[in-house]
This record gives sequence, structure tokens and C-alpha cells, in this order.
Amino acid sequence: MQQHIGKLNEAQQQPVLQKEGPMIIIAGAGSGKTRVLTIRIAWLMHQGVDPFNILALTFTNKAAREMKNRIAEIVGSNEAKNLWMGTFHSVFARILRAEADKLGYPSNFTIYDTQDSVRLITAIIKEMQLDKDVYKPKQVYGRISSYKNNLITVKAYFNNPELLEADAMSKKPRLGEIYANYVERCFKSGAMDFDDLLLKTNELLNTHPEVLQKYQNRFKYILVDEYQDTNHSQYLIVRALSDRFQNICVVGDDAQSIYAFRGANINNILNFQKDYPDAKLYRLEQNYRSTKNIVEAANSIIDKNKVKLDKVVWTANDFGPKIKVHRSVTDAEEGRFVAATIWETKMNQQLNNGHFAILYRTNAQSRAMEDALRKRDIPYRIYGGLSFYQRKEIKDVLCYLRLVINPKDEEALVRVINFPARGIGDTTVEKLTIAANHYKRSIFEVMENIDKIDLKLNSGTKNKLKDFVTMIRSFQVIEEKHDAFYIADHVTKKTGLVQELKKDATPEGIARIENIEELLNGIKDFTEGQKEVADARGSLSEFLEDVALATDLDKDTGDDDRVALMTIHLAKGLEFPHVFVVGMEEDLFPSAMSMNTRAELEEERRLFYVALTRAEQQAYLTYAQSRYRWGKLTDSEPSRFIEEIDDQYLEYLTPEESNYRFRPMLNTDIFGDVDKSKLRLSKPVSSAPPKWVTENQPKPPADIRRLKPVGTKAPGGGNLFDDKLTVGNIVMHERFGKGEITGLEGVGADRKAEIKFEVGGIKKLLLRFARLEII
Ligand code: ATP
Ligand code: MG
Repeated sequence: MQQHIGKLNEAQQQPVLQKEGPMIIIAGAGSGKTRVLTIRIAWLMHQGVDPFNILALTFTNKAAREMKNRIAEIVGSNEAKNLWMGTFHSVFARILRAEADKLGYPSNFTIYDTQDSVRLITAIIKEMQLDKDVYKPKQVYGRISSYKNNLITVKAYFNNPELLEADAMSKKPRLGEIYANYVERCFKSGAMDFDDLLLKTNELLNTHPEVLQKYQNRFKYILVDEYQDTNHSQYLIVRALSDRFQNICVVGDDAQSIYAFRGANINNILNFQKDYPDAKLYRLEQNYRSTKNIVEAANSIIDKNKVKLDKVVWTANDFGPKIKVHRSVTDAEEGRFVAATIWETKMNQQLNNGHFAILYRTNAQSRAMEDALRKRDIPYRIYGGLSFYQRKEIKDVLCYLRLVINPKDEEALVRVINFPARGIGDTTVEKLTIAANHYKRSIFEVMENIDKIDLKLNSGTKNKLKDFVTMIRSFQVIEEKHDAFYIADHVTKKTGLVQELKKDATPEGIARIENIEELLNGIKDFTEGQKEVADARGSLSEFLEDVALATDLDKDTGDDDRVALMTIHLAKGLEFPHVFVVGMEEDLFPSAMSMNTRAELEEERRLFYVALTRAEQQAYLTYAQSRYRWGKLTDSEPSRFIEEIDDQYLEYLTPEESNYRFRPMLNTDIFGDVDKSKLRLSKPVSSAPPKWVTENQPKPPADIRRLKPVGTKAPGGGNLFDDKLTVGNIVMHERFGKGEITGLEGVGADRKAEIKFEVGGIKKLLLRFARLEII
């Protein structure tokens, strides 16, 4: 043990060795926060703390698993097995199952995923005959989710005049009713959604003092990673559980708080010392992950944020190569650049695919990257997006399996009752739903009593319903005696799912069958694995629990060597030698939806900080001058975040091209590999800023001045800044052609012009990128 502690630096050792009492570790990226948590747990066990008494909450289940493995290497796997570790959702789902009866839930409750929740809300909106363009199901789900995460129950909602008024003002006066219906329907189906797992845990701990006491006594030591991203509901759980022993250790970085849009509350970090007046604050300052160049560039970015805690991050690592900035004409070309660079770097430096990550702001950006990687035969893996378990054929199988465990599960039932087709039509399902709502029972219970309820169904239909009930019941009998694999294999055969898919001989149809095979293989692996875990038997319900709470990262077994593609949000806590942050463009990153307030922009900037600090050796920032968005070719400007980094940390890979202008007429060539020499005008334009720019440079605030020598660069060439332009000027834009300035707003680097172009209509452009010429 001592040897592991000896490898930590002095500042890291202190929190590890403080056995009792509350503590908070605030430190920048790569400073060893997660490592400190890991070693601390091992050390506690070494000091004789029973692993059953330790609860560690992580951002993904994969992170928990890795931590556990690491601890097992130090203290032995038998001991480590008994640690309570996982995400908030998985740990508290487990506790809720054990205590479900106290909340009136069955212990085999289903966990609805987002798809299930949104489908149910859609159905409710339809039943209530509301306009789904006003009550947009996904938006409604978002509202309900945020109520739940702030512990606003249906009752609390209706008692809160402000909320009622806010929803009425936003033309959704019946939102509360939808909320109430949704909660009731979930309850009737024996189902909890993701947010319920936290809300119900709070309810359980608040209303059952004996339960609270039990878990307070059990979790004598609580540790939380990524504390900056906990929401209110999670915060309350941690506070309640740690109240008795106060042995709570949280680690986080306010500069990496990136889930405010989902209700994460940075105040949880800021107020920690208020909640625990005895709390000890530790800071770690040395970064072990990245080169000096990356660490300093990242520092200079986060410096631009106003809301932040003062922190120092430095590294003893080498300076390393500069951050490479690459511009391309289209997103397809951007993809080709990334793939080619990975290919070459791999060859030159003898690296694996797993040493590279491509990070983006939105999932939609993965397509161009995928195309390019495929062309070069570079294996990759996409995290996030539509996960394996949400593919139609997979979800169909899972819904049958869910019904076996919990026949009340309405979403599962509605999905498969007539798939494969067995002559139970929509009208019948509608009648069943109405009856179920009326009797406040599940649809399955109505089906079981179909002879006793008059739904005006003919006897043929009734028999079909009875057959379905018998089929599910027969699966249940088998399930009791067998493991998850056995029953899953049986269900796919007996329901006719596979036979149905076999009718489709197209490559897509065959792929679907292969997916089901992959699912069965996965279940087999799971079953075998579970048999080695204490208290587990590899049952179907264990498997379904695992699936419901799996994040995409969790499926990564790490055996195959692939380039990782994911959104920046998902990359939190991870590290890679080479990182590409792609789509560095205004309106994409920072996102167009996040530029309304300073707070939103600062969250985007934190996201950029997270992205850059994932890189160990080399970071790339790439942007395209045009890309397909929502099926339309859109022009884009480089992200302001590139400009925010001091030039000394950057290397422009495409410098000579900024000396040339692209001929607007040739833009259509961007569809393929064009000969770029054709796109160039013969006369290069100087990239040095004109004299009047250097002379009239607006003075940046003091802290920025330190980082950024005045007049160094304006990516994309020097430009007309502000005071020369007025409304009414006729200007020329290199791509959009001639237009008239109809408005000006903002100052300095944010100065924008609204321009009415002769072709293409009105556009708003950032002047520092727009390269306008007055004519
Ligand atoms: P993030 O904020 O991104 O989650 P973090 O603060 O949790 O980062 P870790 O992931 O724990 O940082 O550590 C970053 C890297 O530095 C890891 O590869 C870790 O093994 C390594 N590291 C941490 N502390 C030390 C140390 N004292 N000596 C050597 N390597 C270290
Ligand atoms: Mg970490």
C-alpha cells in the first residue's frame, strides 16, 4: 500500500490520508482527482474499513469498473468485490429494488429509457387531444425531467403558482395534467424513468427514517467523482446519506461543469463548505496528463470565463508540439484530413487506433468522420447516438423480456403485442388502454380479465389476447428456473421474432438478425460473468437492469483497438494521446443555442476546456468553411474559441491558403475531391492586418492582454473591424457576393453585421471573420 501512496505527490497524499471528516478536492483537469479517489478507497480498506461500508459514485459504470479493478490490484479482488460503486442511477436502482414495497412499487419494476418515456408522453398528449406542435413531446419530457430533478412532484407543481403561471404563459397550461397522467401511468406500469431513480430515492429517505438510518450506517464512507455535475436531486441524496458520519469526500472541477443544461448545479461545489462547516479543502495543481503546451493553452481559455474559482494548473511535462489548427472547405474534407492524419501518425509513430479520439459537439457530426475512416479502413467505435439497445429489433426482443419480468410494463406491451403480427389491431389496443385507464389497472391485467369486461370485442380477438397472456405466463414459468440466456433464446424463437426477420433477405434484414445474435451472445457473456459475482445468478432481471442503466461507454470492453468517436460531454474524465476536436465553428461550437446569455457561452467554453484537456500529447482543432446541417449546405466561420487561444500555442496547418480567396462560383466543387489550385485566384491577398487595424485596436481587458499580444492575428486574415463600416454600406463578401449592410451590433471581436445579399438573402456575420470589402 505504502508504495502506491508513495507514487502520489504531497498534495495528493493529504486527502488520501485524512481518514475521517468531510473534504472537497477542487482541481483542474488531469491533476489526479480520480486517482486520489481510487487510492483513498484502497487505503481505507487497508486501514480496516469494511468494503461494504464504502460507497463510491462515478460518472459512468465503466469508470466505476475501472476503479474497482485498480483497487482489486492493490487490495485483492475478493475484498474489492464488495465495494458499492457505480453511477448514482445504478446504485440507487439497486437500493430502490430492495425497498420498493415501501413506495408501493414491485421490486421487479421496469426502468423506462428516454424512448419509452417520450413515447408514453406522446400517447398521453394524443389521448388528451392536445396539439403536439404546442406540446412537443420531447420538450414536455424535458420539463417533467427538470421538475423531478428539482424534487417538484405533481402535488408540489400544482401548489406552485409561479410554475403554473410560467407554463400558462408559455402556452402550455395543461402541462401539469400531462405530468400527473405520466406519473400515474408509470406507476400503474410498475415503471420508473431515469429521473425517478433519484426522485424516489429522495422520497424513500425522506419518508422512512429507519431506511435512511440503515443506509447512513451502511455507507460510513462516501466518495463522489465529478461532483461539479451533480444535480439537486443527487446532491440531496449525498447529503442525507452522509449526514450521520460526515465522512464524505467529493472531487470536482468547476471549470469542467458541463451539465447545467440538464440541471447540474455548480453551487453544489461552491456551497460544500457551507453545508459541511468542518470541511477541509484540498487543491491539486500539478497536471500529469498533458504537455505544457496543452495545459497552458487550456488555462488561457478558461481564464476568459468570469464565473470561476481561482485555480493553478501547471505541469512538469515537456512542452510538446503545438496545437494544430486545420481549415478545410467542407466537412467531408475535414473528415478526410482527420482520417489521413490518423493513418500517417499511426504509421510514423507506431501507434494503435485506440490512441486517437475524435470529439465533437453534436452527434450528427460523426457521419463525415465515419465515412472518411471507413475509406481508409481505420476501425472506429462511436459512443452515444443511437445505442445498440435502442435499435428496433433489439428493443423488440428486450420488450418481450421486460414483459416476462413485469407484465404490467405498458410501453413494452404496446410495442410487441402485435409484433410479429398476430391480428391484434390498433383499435383493440386503444380499447384496452381506455379500459386500463378507467380501472386504473395495467393493460395486461385488463387482458387477463377480458371475459369479464365488456369492450365489444369479438371472440376471435378475445382469443388472440388470451393467447398472448398465456404465452407471456409460460415464459415466466421458464424464467423462474433458468438463467437470462436460456429464456432470451427461448423467447426469440417462440415469439416468432426471428422468423419474421428472416422474411427480409435484404442486407439490412440480415444485419438485423445478426444484431439479435449479437444480443444473445452478449446475454450469454453476461450470464457467465454474473455467476462469479456474489449474490447473483445471471437472471433475466439482473440482465435487464444492466441494460437499462448501461451508458454507451460501458459497452466498451477495451479488447478491440479502435479510434474513439464521441461527443465532448461523453469524454469527461477520459484521456487519449491524440485528440481531434472537430467542427470548431461559430454556431456549432459554441452552439447557436448557447449564445443567448453569458452563462451559456461560459458553459460552452468549459466544454471546450474539457475537450482540449483530454489530450495527452497532441491536440488538433479543425473547422470547415461549409458543412451540411439539417440537410442544407451552410457556411460557417471559425469558432471564436480558436481565436481565444494565444497564437504561441497554435500551429496553423493551412496558413498559405489564407492568402488566397476562394472563387464563389466554384463552391459547388466541394462535393468531391477538387483540384484546389482551380479554386484559387491568381493574386494572393496579404494576411497581415491593415495598418488602421493595428493602430485602432480596441484595448482588451488587462487579464486578456497578458495572454494575448495585441494585433497578432485574426484567423482567416486581417479584416475590417468596426468603425469603418456603417449601415447602408455596399460590401463585397468573397462567397456571398454583393450586399448591403442593414444593421451592426456588438463590439470588438463580437462585432457583427447584418447584411442583405443580392443572392442568398439576409445573413448575420462576425466581422472579424467576414472579410468584407466596401465597394
Ligand atoms: P479529469 O479532471 O479530467 O477527470 P483527473 O483530475 O481526474 O482528471 P486523473 O484522471 O486522475 O485526473 O489523472 C490524470 C492522469 O495523470 C492519469 O493518467 C493518472 O494516472 C496520472 N497521474 C495522476 N497522478 C499522478 C502521479 N502522482 N504520478 C504520475 N501520474 C499521475
Ligand atoms: Mg477524473
